[in-house]
Amino acid sequence: MMISPPRILIVGAGACGLTLARSLESFGIQDFEILDKARGVGGRMASRRLKRADETQASFDTGVQQIESSEPALQELWQEAEIAGVLQKSNSGEMAYWLPKPGMSALAKFWAGKLSLDSHGKQKLHLDIRVKEISRTTQGGEGASWELSFEKNAPKTGSVVVLTCPLPQALQLLPQGVPLPTPLKGPRIEPAACLLWTQTDGTLSRRNWSAPEDSPFLEALLELDANAALLSAEAKAREEGQLPGQESIVETYLHRWRYSRVRGALEAPWLEAAPGLFLAGDAFAAADGRTDVERSVLSGRFVAEELASRLRPAIQPS
Ligand SMILES: Cc1cc2nc3c(=O)[nH]c(=O)nc-3n(C[C@H](O)[C@H](O)[C@H](O)COP(=O)(O)OP(=O)(O)OC[C@H]3O[C@@H](n4cnc5c(N)ncnc54)[C@H](O)[C@@H]3O)c2cc1C
Repeated sequence: MMISPPRILIVGAGACGLTLARSLESFGIQDFEILDKARGVGGRMASRRLKRADETQASFDTGVQQIESSEPALQELWQEAEIAGVLQKSNSGEMAYWLPKPGMSALAKFWAGKLSLDSHGKQKLHLDIRVKEISRTTQGGEGASWELSFEKNAPKTGSVVVLTCPLPQALQLLPQGVPLPTPLKGPRIEPAACLLWTQTDGTLSRRNWSAPEDSPFLEALLELDANAALLSAEAKAREEGQLPGQESIVETYLHRWRYSRVRGALEAPWLEAAPGLFLAGDAFAAADGRTDVERSVLSGRFVAEELASRLRPAIQPS
């Protein structure tokens, strides 16, 4: 099926959206935009700076800690970042890891910086733009066109939309009349939280809580406003003997993740909920239910290959 005109809107500038965009460029497809509600790129590849006692800044990763490297097809991508000084390889037993330098968000910034301008000389990446609704501008079939509306910006239309946000958020955006594809009832994305702190003696520390073992605490934490949640997390970390007294603390920060890691991810590389409306990201391309940054990147690449084969029949993905 040929989709025309080939304007692609990618929702989400995390690992999936950014590497999908780079793959599209590698296929010679330039007519796309990436839209993210956040002020920075990376999604769950997120870093946060905290003040140290000597007034310098310490960088912590609040989401992804390390990239487990098992996919031969992705080694080149990681090595490119290694050469640029953004990733560093580490080995633990048989498993190789990539660790970020200085923080995981640097990798997302590196990928974003590699994107070229579109055919009209404009930036393809737009931040601080939250997709509120998706609707059809024509009814189904070939040439179906989608309209994205936003909280603050003028609507955008595209013939292809790829939703790379965490699956529950993507499903909320599916337009009325688009049925939920059955396999999508399977994956669940668990919450998580991490409390970070710097100490007067120079120590940098963290306490992570993750589901299912910490589920009741996490569910309660997600209901609180930011200040109350920080106080509650500090109290729990003190109770556990992890967080020292206030006199030893320079700064604390709590990051809450409503969606952290997927359980029951699908083997399918992506799903097309309706013609030209794709769902991709870390709920897809799973090996043995395993899900991580590598799965997100693979899912994005598979979507790019699919679009390249539809939009540019002359270009055969390798
Ligand atoms: C605490 C934690 C620890 C983890 N540890 C690891 C680890 O060590 N190793 C590992 O490999 N993986 C880890 N993961 C999992 C990993 O982070 C994810 O698998 C991967 O980063 C997902 O990338 P993504 O692009 O699919 O989604 P995301 O990174 O979530 O990107 C989706 C983007 O969509 C945007 N978005 C959402 N809704 C909208 C909207 N309506 N409009 C516009 N934009 C929108 C978001 O702002 C976000 O930037 C961890 C995750 C968490 C939270």
